[in-house]
Amino acid sequence: MKTEIFHQSEESNSSSKLFERALRTIPGGVNSPVRAFRSVGGTPFFTERASGSQLVTSDGKSLIDYVCAWGPAIHGHNHPLIRGAIERALEKGTSFGTPNPYEVEMAELIVELVPSIERVRVVNSGTEATMSCIRLARGATARDKIVKFAGCYHGHVDSLLVKAGSGALTFGHPTSAGIPRSFSRETIVIPFNDLEALDRAFAEHGKSIAGVIVEPYPANNALILPQPGFLEALRKRCSEHDALLIFDEVMTGFRVSLGGAQEREGVLPDLTALGKIIGGGLPVGAFGGSETIMRELAPDGPVYQAGTLSGNPLAMAAGIEALNLLRRDPPYKRLNTLGRHVKHSLEAIAKDLGIPLQVPQMGSMFALIFSDGPILNDRDVSDSRTDQFNKVFRSCLENGVYLPPSAYETCFISSAHSEEDIDKTIAIIGAALREL
Ligand code: PLP
Repeated sequence: MKTEIFHQSEESNSSSKLFERALRTIPGGVNSPVRAFRSVGGTPFFTERASGSQLVTSDGKSLIDYVCAWGPAIHGHNHPLIRGAIERALEKGTSFGTPNPYEVEMAELIVELVPSIERVRVVNSGTEATMSCIRLARGATARDKIVKFAGCYHGHVDSLLVKAGSGALTFGHPTSAGIPRSFSRETIVIPFNDLEALDRAFAEHGKSIAGVIVEPYPANNALILPQPGFLEALRKRCSEHDALLIFDEVMTGFRVSLGGAQEREGVLPDLTALGKIIGGGLPVGAFGGSETIMRELAPDGPVYQAGTLSGNPLAMAAGIEALNLLRRDPPYKRLNTLGRHVKHSLEAIAKDLGIPLQVPQMGSMFALIFSDGPILNDRDVSDSRTDQFNKVFRSCLENGVYLPPSAYETCFISSAHSEEDIDKTIAIIGAALREL
């Protein structure tokens, strides 16, 4: 059986054959559930290689990619300068288990660029970053409860993998088996953009709320944008109740501006979680805040947090290059122009066709939500016509455009996407809309 696997012919490396093999050894055939295409139907393609704005599948098909590795690939895939940085680091070794010079450079870059961060610790994923923010918030305030917003995703952390129950203010229910109810009871879930619910949460539980965690632009429920004043009000309420405001900028950090959503909005959180772009395509996360709060962390303080591979030199080298590229030649203006072009073009086509379609957009992020709108919270997204998104997804994939394989994910444009890529994509999505 094993020898059979090692003698696979070239033809047997088609996506369907690879998926058949994967199903025999990997749960559901994938290492992260959304990759399985369950929400849009069918089976996933495998990627052989990627460059710039394009993926090349194991079946030899080229696709213009709007998943961008789920966010990290802001410079497009396989950027030569990032590859070069990894190659140079590789010559020196793959992991040392001691401090290394790259870690210092990475920390200096993050502290320089992200307005609220004075001290930062690097971890290996976004999940580790948000988990560590929660522990630190609890440790620093000596309180247990966390407020989160329905529809925001913060990685697969036990106490954050929680959805709202019925009613505006609820203690959450676990969204996964294996999470003790007692954990989710420490999480209060309220709707995004709902300040009344936030006020009720503080009125009822203010003395035990350690922190409020939020994606400033929730991008794991299609894309939801904050109402004017919402993020400012969060800041104010947290300060009034001595709770910490935690911005999960795993998605928005370095994506919407060099200093993330906090810089764009002029609202400074107490703690920030980062990930995705800061790894340049390798596994990295980070979390940071003021010197005073970060001093609570071991070895200086009582809040324990650690990682064997944290600050790995290859990952640091890739991330430093990715951030330096952004700093040298900020792509944000052009990315926003492309994003707005997609939004306005698709909304105009849909309007002509009489199809209710919202295209919320923030810089290089956009989503297709089949609804009359407005889109203010998770309910507005779940009430939308996800069946129409699924049809558009399949039509696009057949015609060379890879949108995220779920109506609840956000599309990303990279600086490697050309104007031609974008116009071709608008035409292909437009044709898919006409087929609905
Ligand atoms: N926070 C946000 C906003 C995310 O979008 C994600 C992942 O998509 C995470 C946290 C978790 O990051 P990771 O998948 O690297 O653990």
